[in-house]
Amino acid sequence: MPIERTFAIIKPDAVAAGNAGQILAMIETAGFKILAMRKHQLSRAEAEGFYAVHKGKGFFAELVDFMTEGPVVLLALERENAIAKWREVMGATNPDKAEAGTVRKLYGTNIGRNASHGSDAPETAAFELSWFFRGSEMI
Ligand code: ATP
Ligand code: MG
Repeated sequence: MPIERTFAIIKPDAVAAGNAGQILAMIETAGFKILAMRKHQLSRAEAEGFYAVHKGKGFFAELVDFMTEGPVVLLALERENAIAKWREVMGATNPDKAEAGTVRKLYGTNIGRNASHGSDAPETAAFELSWFFRGSEMI
């Protein structure tokens, strides 16, 4: 399995609830190296651009409202098979359907307010990492 990078967000619900530290511990326990990390307040334009693939869907406005309601933690992560592995640690999009012990099962509320984000493919990981981090920040 190749060493890979992925992009993660600890979403506003999890940051506001004080769960960022627990989620970071899960990330490190799962063997990820944190290459870059920044607390950030997303603007509407940033959230809309980041989730542009979902533009036109019924939940788009709700998603942008949610992602901009408070600060998030942005992360560049690295390990073997990082993209699939981080999605496994996060669990299913809908916390009700997520496996026990996953981030979304433990800290998500519903399909919209689901505590974390992870890239879904190498191309999206590259796009999302470059949306928020300069190459020189990932160390
Ligand atoms: P993410 O991209 O945030 O890692 P995902 O890849 O598991 O999540 P996507 O289908 O890409 O799921 O949806 C992006 C985000 O949009 C979800 O994480 C969730 O916050 C929100 N979302 C998705 N589907 C719904 C829905 N039916 N109702 C409300 N919000 C939704
Ligand atoms: Mg997605």
